[in-house]
Amino acid sequence: MISVEEALGKILSYVEVLEPEQKPILDCLGQVLAEDIYSDIDIPPLDNSAMDGYALRAQDTRGASESSPRYLVVVGEVAAGSMPTKDVMPGTAIRIMTGAPLPEGADAVVRFEDTDEVNRKSSGGDLSQIGILCQAKKGLHIRGGGEDIAKGDLVLRNGKVLRPQEIGVLASLGRSTALVIRRPIVAILATGDELIGVDQPLAPGKIYNSNTYTIAAEVSRYGGIPKILGIGRDSVQSLTEKIDEGLDADMLITSGGVSKGDYDRVKDVLAEHGEIGFWAVCMKPGKPLAFGVIKKMEGVRTKKVPHLGLPGNPVSSMVTFEQFARPAILKMMGKKILAKPAIRAIIEDDVVNTDGRRLFARVSVTKRGGGYHASVTGPQGSGVFTSMTRANGLAVIPENSKGVKAGDMVEVQMLDWGEEQDEVKKLPIVSIVGKSQSGKTVLMEQLIAEFKKRGYKVAALKHSRGGIEIDHPGKDSWRYSQAGGDAVLISSPDKLAFFKNLNHELSIEEIMPIVGPEFDLVLVEGFKKSKIPKIEVHRKKLGDDILCSPEELSAVVTDGSLDTDIVQLPWGDTVTVADFIEKTFVLKSQSSAFLPPGRKKGR
Ligand code: AMP
Ligand code: MG
Repeated sequence: MISVEEALGKILSYVEVLEPEQKPILDCLGQVLAEDIYSDIDIPPLDNSAMDGYALRAQDTRGASESSPRYLVVVGEVAAGSMPTKDVMPGTAIRIMTGAPLPEGADAVVRFEDTDEVNRKSSGGDLSQIGILCQAKKGLHIRGGGEDIAKGDLVLRNGKVLRPQEIGVLASLGRSTALVIRRPIVAILATGDELIGVDQPLAPGKIYNSNTYTIAAEVSRYGGIPKILGIGRDSVQSLTEKIDEGLDADMLITSGGVSKGDYDRVKDVLAEHGEIGFWAVCMKPGKPLAFGVIKKMEGVRTKKVPHLGLPGNPVSSMVTFEQFARPAILKMMGKKILAKPAIRAIIEDDVVNTDGRRLFARVSVTKRGGGYHASVTGPQGSGVFTSMTRANGLAVIPENSKGVKAGDMVEVQMLDWGEEQDEVKKLPIVSIVGKSQSGKTVLMEQLIAEFKKRGYKVAALKHSRGGIEIDHPGKDSWRYSQAGGDAVLISSPDKLAFFKNLNHELSIEEIMPIVGPEFDLVLVEGFKKSKIPKIEVHRKKLGDDILCSPEELSAVVTDGSLDTDIVQLPWGDTVTVADFIEKTFVLKSQSSAFLPPGRKKGR
């Protein structure tokens, strides 16, 4: 059996990003931009008013208030879409609408509400003059020309997924088309002698072909163009004909015919036409899966069409589509984030995992009391397709787990959530491990100070085996916890401390969301058993052996010299250790992202 990751890795290695095409912007929703978009105009093009009011000179309003208005002569009016015909001279104002260009001479706009206009109108007063009831600062209610986008700005980067807001930005630049990676055409073939089309009367022994419809809808949902080939019969001739029809597509998806049944001919036909692999994937539902490429001669060239053979059971077919076909389609479209959006939820039912495969349990997720709860949607047989219609998530029970108990935390893939658009910021994290008395804490102190000096925001986390004393006897927080509080928080203007009773020790993954996302680096002392990257402190006086196995370590900080391939850094030289951490963990994780302004990249 191969793992889900291994199967996906192989599938993706055969799937290429498709070529770009120029299209009207409204047809580009959800597609990936294949060009950098620069602006050749300023947006807004001119200084203009952000309010309906009067354009004037700020200095003419000095000392103005409700009780002592400043009166200005109104010399004209300017509406959005037209240009001012007069300038604002000292002692004058021009009535202006939102979005209208600011007249020469004006440096502020006062809203109608801050003038006596309404009173004047209702008392039939003279509108050739206006009373200003407040003092305006220069720039008040003015939007500067080029404030949003300046001519020459890089506005959208190659690789950006176009959402409604990006399509609007393209329009605001006066672009009617854009270059985007084209959508893949995905041919869909159902196989089986038992299948009949939905427009036929049901006959004995037959069932309606539903997979074609589920798969076609999935293909559309993820941005592909489905090409329906219909039903292939369990005969070599029928399948060969149908598969031929699918070869002008970018990918072929079949359902059924990949398990061990006697009539499962798909394998034989595919083996004739290209390379094909049959895999037992370590997952449930959906163990049997076929993947290969079908070769087709196009003149002198052979075209290779990737083929994904999903199991026939409707649930298995959809679950395997989600795990394998969805990422393949997204990759063809040029998307970078292929993982299904996932959350952590409390499971409300026991789920047993008997056969050591990764179990995808259909669950209904609700949000309650600040957290997510997932309940299993009834019988989980792979033929019970309605379990899918009741579900909005797939709870993932790992292959190495015997199952979960109600109340446990599980990962849930959310079926109906859109794709992630930007990589969730992954905090660079590294743990300093070593024998007791090796100087881990000294190194932690030095590194924290060194990274602060470099302008980083650092979180430090210490593993404590011996428990934690809550504040000091007699203090209020101590009294809360003595009284039985399960969580005690102490907040002050510059610190928050948080104690919570646990019935099991939290993993790093569970602790990180509590730490928060705003740090540049997390330095951890201890947590030797976790999977985060580690640097071990080695001291001659404590022996020549090291605690961790070499594969686990990114480096060793030592005052000796070790006979090992691992990077060795000198004990006592914090700058060198910090340089290594910065280069290996911090800058790597930032290489594709923009750095926050003012934060220096490296030194
Ligand atoms: P197979 O993988 O061909 O052995 O099919 C496994 C099960 O899924 C059988 O019970 C089939 O009848 C069912 N099945 C296969 N293809 C479809 C389909 N297109 N629509 C609905 N059920 C199907
Ligand atoms: Mg079949």
